[in-house]
Amino acid sequence: MTVDYGSLPLAFPCTCVGLCDADCECRAGGHFCDQVCQCPTTCVNRWQGCDCTCNSRGSGDEDEDQEECCRLKRECACVRAGRECGRMCKCARSKWGVEAGCVNRVIGAKLVDPQKYTYVDLSHVPNGGWGLFALCPLSRSFPLGEYTGEVITDAEADRRGLVYDEMKLNYFFDLANDAVVDAFRLGNALRFINHGSGKAANVEPKVVMVNGSQRILLRTKRAVGAGQELVMDYGPKYQLWKGGSLELDNQ
Ligand SMILES: [Zn+2]
Ligand SMILES: [Zn+2]
Ligand SMILES: [Zn+2]
Ligand SMILES: [Zn+2]
Ligand SMILES: [Zn+2]
Repeated sequence: MTVDYGSLPLAFPCTCVGLCDADCECRAGGHFCDQVCQCPTTCVNRWQGCDCTCNSRGSGDEDEDQEECCRLKRECACVRAGRECGRMCKCARSKWGVEAGCVNRVIGAKLVDPQKYTYVDLSHVPNGGWGLFALCPLSRSFPLGEYTGEVITDAEADRRGLVYDEMKLNYFFDLANDAVVDAFRLGNALRFINHGSGKAANVEPKVVMVNGSQRILLRTKRAVGAGQELVMDYGPKYQLWKGGSLELDNQ
């Protein structure tokens, strides 16, 4: 089963003194406990990490790229659960595309900087304003970086939305139940990625759990050539929206 962190409540580390019971905030919210929780390490709700052993010589699977691990959903417990690998995992940390090892440590390991691989220019999308483009050829599943911003409540997003609609700008992304990331002031260049529906989208967002909090990872859906515009499908909410502002919605 795949955990959809975007539909769970915003995670806060629990403050359980003993073992987590029904009152535990993590358990009540449908989250695993993490190293940031106060409960003892013997807590049965603690995420145990994956036991991928890519630090030896691949997984033995002929189809798999021997230099990467924790990439295939069916193998890595972390990838299946929508989590980045962390301290409790057995896999080895790697530099994306440079060293062999786990490729499921991106945001937590601060491995990618969107500025290195992309640039902002006038969008080819009609009424798109600024858009984001690939600076160099990017391989499939290349992590572009984290969609950053302020985490605000739905009510605050509704309030700000009225102002943004006037400006014809909107950089919201649904992160969790009652939690929206607003990239208007504190976001990075990834907020300039415009909407492209269905097959046109060459970027996909995913809410992943990193060290106890939900974060938004954007990565390429397929290989992208240098100079190509990056677009992603903003989801059904955006399709319903009428007016031209850019609302990001996770899948
Ligand atoms: Zn707890
Ligand atoms: Zn907990
Ligand atoms: Zn793994
Ligand atoms: Zn792992
Ligand atoms: Zn890993």
